[in-house]
Formats: sequence, structure tokens, C-alpha cells
Amino acid sequence: MNFFNTRKYFAPIFIFMLLLFVTSCARNKQENISSNESSSRQSSSSASASDEMASVTGIVMDATMNKIMINADGEEYFFGTEGATVIALDGILIDDQATVYYSAAEPKNALKIDVIKNGKNHHSDYQVYEVKGTAPSIQGAKWDNMVSQRKESTNFAQKYRDLVYVNLNPNEKAVFLTFDDGPDATNTLSVMNTLIKKKVGATFFFTGENIKNNSAVVKKVHENGFAIGLHGYDHTSLGVLKDNEVKAQLNNTNDLLEKITGERTNLMRPPYGDINDSTIEIIGQLKQKIYLWSLDTLDWAQSDKEEILRNIKENLRPGDIILMHASYGKSFSAEILPEVIDYIKTQGYELKALPK
Ligand SMILES: [Zn+2]
Repeated sequence: MNFFNTRKYFAPIFIFMLLLFVTSCARNKQENISSNESSSRQSSSSASASDEMASVTGIVMDATMNKIMINADGEEYFFGTEGATVIALDGILIDDQATVYYSAAEPKNALKIDVIKNGKNHHSDYQVYEVKGTAPSIQGAKWDNMVSQRKESTNFAQKYRDLVYVNLNPNEKAVFLTFDDGPDATNTLSVMNTLIKKKVGATFFFTGENIKNNSAVVKKVHENGFAIGLHGYDHTSLGVLKDNEVKAQLNNTNDLLEKITGERTNLMRPPYGDINDSTIEIIGQLKQKIYLWSLDTLDWAQSDKEEILRNIKENLRPGDIILMHASYGKSFSAEILPEVIDYIKTQGYELKALPK
């Protein structure tokens, strides 16, 4: 990876300038610390603080805008928005909130770089897409309902910037295939094998019930490096449930997933895309990210392979999250997938899993 490719990482220029400022402040601060013998700076590193600080050459956000990278001494340090990992660069310390400290022992000297704080602000530049995709069978009142639900999705993504996503960064030429409702015994594996053959990333949103009944498939999907997210326990619309029932839908599914894969997930897609302010709040409390979609192939409403492909061809945009299904009865989705992927590749897009 070209770490400072400004065409790809145009956004971090501002951050880089901030870092220069931080580094300069830290050097000044270090001179004070050095002259103070009672300094209680915490450091397990044997290198001198000033050496370390001088070696910090940059801080950038990665292309998903979800990770922050520090380049120090030729090493690239990555840390994301989850967890409490603290990376001390001796003298400069940066925590998982992207708060930059001059010294670990003196957090009161923290200089916050709010623009990259835990994804809360950096996302605000994104254009939130209108949701695309049509099916000949969806007309009249059905179409009107779908349009209003799509508008709601876009509104929620605009309102809850760090929590609800319809699409990802429009400035990166990547798209995100997602497959709902599995795992089943055949189509999920067929989809997975196509993805492996085509060497592309993707995300599966599984229900708890199906995880329980097809644990071997879950294991294979996980072992092959695909992202797995929650799609409720029994595909009930979360909007009709009480708060504790919503929590149970997600926690029970995550428990099952952890038993099989050894990992919990923070990726979540509500069944039917049905969310409201109250369910969003609960899901947020559970530290889940809600991924809706910006391009619906409508493979849930139609089984015509050409229509599925047409939706991709007519609507594909950078950053699109694409809705498909890899579940019982969806053999046509699995069958058209090679063509879908080939088309997307010929348009110059990367296909990736959703960021955790
Ligand atoms: Zn579903």
C-alpha cells in the first residue's frame, strides 16, 4: 500500500497538518518534561521519548475512514473504532478515541483531534445515497411503500452518521456485496465458492435460527475470511418487539456465532431493513453498526437473473452496499453471481467486506 498516496487518501491532508502541530507541541512539552526529574511519565519503551516523537511521520485515515494509521519508525500502527487498545508511541500517546496525548501520565495535556474521533465526525462528508433498484413486479402502492422506506433509510443514515450506513465512502472505488438470510445448506456455500474463486470480499448477514441449523456452513464462511453479521434471531421485524426482545434477538445470535467462530460481530442488518429511533438506540447500546443498503438487486422480489444483473448495471456507484441473498430458495442469486462480480470488476471496482 502506498501509505501517503494523496489521491487515495486525500482526506488526511488536514489530519497530517494537525499532526505536525501536535508533534511540534509535543517536542516543546518534552523539553519541559526532560527538565523535570520528578516526571512520572509512563513508558515501557527503552527508546528516548524525543527520538520516538521525531520518528512519528504521519497520521492518516484509511480508505474506509474507519481506521487511523500512524506511521512511526517505518511501522504502521492500525487501530479502529472498537476496543480499548492504547498504542503508546512514547511521548506521544494516542488512544482508541484518537485522542493524542503528549505524555501518558499527563492526560490533562490531551489534544483532541475531534475530526477523527471514533468515526463520529469523519463520516459527515459522505454523501448518503438514494437507494436504487427496481423490479417489474413492484408497482403502484407496493412501489410507493418501498420508496418511502428507502427515504427513511437515507434519513436514518444522515441522522445517525456513526451508526447507520446506507453506503460507504463514495470517493473510494469499492463496493460491498452483502448476502442476507443464510446460512442454508447449499446456496450459501455456492455463493461462498464463487467469491473464493473470484477472489473478492463480501459480507453475510445470518439469522440465529439458520446459524443453529447450519453451523458447519458458518464455520466454513468464517474460515474463508468472509465477514459475518447479525440478521436477527428469527427474522422478526425489530420494530414490533420490546427493547429486551430486540436485545435478545441480537445477543442470542451473537452467542451462537461466537460458539462456532470464536468471535462476536459488530455488523448488523435489521430484517426487512426495518428500524426506528428506538431500535437504533438499542442496537447502538449493543455496539453494533447498522448496515442497510444503497443498491437493492431485488432478488427477494424476483427470480429473473437478468433483472438482478440489470439492477447492478444500471445503478452501480462507488461505495454502494449491494443487497443480495444467499439462502434457501435463492439458487438463481447464486447462479448469477459470477456475472455480477465480473461486471463489477470490469467497471474497475474493488469488492470488499464491510469494515468491522
Ligand atoms: Zn432478511
